[in-house]
Amino acid sequence: MNPRYLSRFSNKNFDLLVVGGGINGAAIANLAASLGLSVALVEKNDWASGTSSKSTKLLHGGIRYLENFEFDLVAESLKERHIQWKSVPHLVKPMRFIVPVYRGVGRPLWMMKLGVWLYDFLSGKYSLGSHGHLSLEEMARVSPGIRKEGLLGGVSYFDAQMDDARICLENVLMARKRGAQVANYCEVTDFLKENGRTVGVRLYDAILQDACEVRANNIVVAAGPWADFVRHKDTPRSRSRLRTTKGVHVVLRGNGGQDAFLLQSLKDKRIFFMIPFWGNRLIGTTDTDYAERPDDVRTDQQDLDYLLSQARQFFPKMDFSLSQVICTFAGLRPLVHEHGSPSKISRKHVIERNYSGVYYVMGGKYTTYRAIALDCVREVFPRSKDRLPVSESYKLYGSGLGQVDLKSEAARYGVDTDIVSHLMSLYGSRFVDVLHLVRLDPSLKAKICPCGPVIRAQIVYSIDTEMAASVEDIYVRRLGLGYQDCPTQQCLREITQILKKKGFLNEKNYQNR
Ligand SMILES: Cc1cc2nc3c(=O)[nH]c(=O)nc-3n(C[C@H](O)[C@H](O)[C@H](O)COP(=O)(O)OP(=O)(O)OC[C@H]3O[C@@H](n4cnc5c(N)ncnc54)[C@H](O)[C@@H]3O)c2cc1C
Repeated sequence: MNPRYLSRFSNKNFDLLVVGGGINGAAIANLAASLGLSVALVEKNDWASGTSSKSTKLLHGGIRYLENFEFDLVAESLKERHIQWKSVPHLVKPMRFIVPVYRGVGRPLWMMKLGVWLYDFLSGKYSLGSHGHLSLEEMARVSPGIRKEGLLGGVSYFDAQMDDARICLENVLMARKRGAQVANYCEVTDFLKENGRTVGVRLYDAILQDACEVRANNIVVAAGPWADFVRHKDTPRSRSRLRTTKGVHVVLRGNGGQDAFLLQSLKDKRIFFMIPFWGNRLIGTTDTDYAERPDDVRTDQQDLDYLLSQARQFFPKMDFSLSQVICTFAGLRPLVHEHGSPSKISRKHVIERNYSGVYYVMGGKYTTYRAIALDCVREVFPRSKDRLPVSESYKLYGSGLGQVDLKSEAARYGVDTDIVSHLMSLYGSRFVDVLHLVRLDPSLKAKICPCGPVIRAQIVYSIDTEMAASVEDIYVRRLGLGYQDCPTQQCLREITQILKKKGFLNEKNYQNR
């Protein structure tokens, strides 16, 4: 168990304080800590609870950015996709995407063929699989039930699906392993000034219900869609830099199949995805301007209706009724301000230094987070340039899972092979840390619910090692159970009970919708 105390923050002057525990903040802290710098990372809620658990969960070049001629962004993303796959293959899975093409709707077939060829060409040695052209017969085979009226054929290409919340957590845990002081549920409420320069922050710990001051030579704010709110605390008269757009996803019950679909709305020509996800189907996303408080973002009925009706047009016989909905989630794209249609705004990132001396990281895509973190550390610590990793390998907490003999591991810890393989798929090389808990207390090998392979040790591990403090932290971000279908809700009850036993009595109740 990691003890929680604020003096670890207040007793020293850090080289770097990072505000925001989404993917960008976590990776910046991780890289800086790898250079031997003293680093603090604070997050006001749970790790990845903001945008970094609300993405479409794709590591992708972004085939649609080709038509904006953003070839450099696409090529960089394709390389980063490969690096993440090599780093944490248990959390990143190559996936085939099918694009059906209809007469008179959206991009013509020749353009789509050119697009997937160009996408592969830009991937070069980082390709995850070859693109393909699909005849009508092949389309019928790979996408049973697809709307046939006007269908001309299709194309296919490869991208990767990932677990966004867990990759973020892997960065946090790695930063901590490298010596960084990290704390979730710690909000920066104010900035400390000396001669007009920001020298630290005031921190409020919602779990300890206590506050302290943290001083640092450099401060980076990686607060995603909250960046303008944090900036206004630092420099109240500064102008807003973000244009936030809302993206909603829905998870539908039912076999997701093997392949994902990239579909172009027949209504407004927007592109959206239908992707196999934890045995079900993920559909998203919407993209609409949003100017309210980021904490209030939620799915509206019209978002849900839009996604279900669009998907129904392509698969008329599938059940897209509300009764099939397992959950929805809504996030905000923290895009740097530009005029024009939300879908056309560039996903490139920007790093700016405020006149108070604080750095702000804005925009970007999940896929390019490592490149964003490298840019940021280079800019804040120019003299460390030569010490930054030049190789393409990127080590995370669960990296390095080699060949494992499932049967002998299962026998060693007295569990079934399905449990070992499930643990490997979530924790990579760290699966043994969870099994170690089972060895210490065999009652922890019990499954929490007949609906899946999750065992009690995982809840304990989530709390003691992965800093989970609420039902939602565990149910959604640590274990992904919120995206699956537990008819009895026993998973929720078991998580709640263990949290209570561990003294987390004020946990928020997680509602599925
Ligand atoms: C709908 C949608 C789909 C997307 N799909 C993809 C995709 O498939 N692939 C892809 O590459 N990219 C995708 N993206 C983009 C990607 O998710 C984001 O670029 C990325 O998650 C941003 O990470 P971040 O760390 O900047 O922000 P966040 O994850 O939002 O992290 C910022 C953190 O700062 C914290 N914070 C705020 N204020 C304070 C404070 N005062 N004190 C302490 N902490 C604070 C917040 O709680 C939050 O956790 C998608 C985005 C959206 C919205």
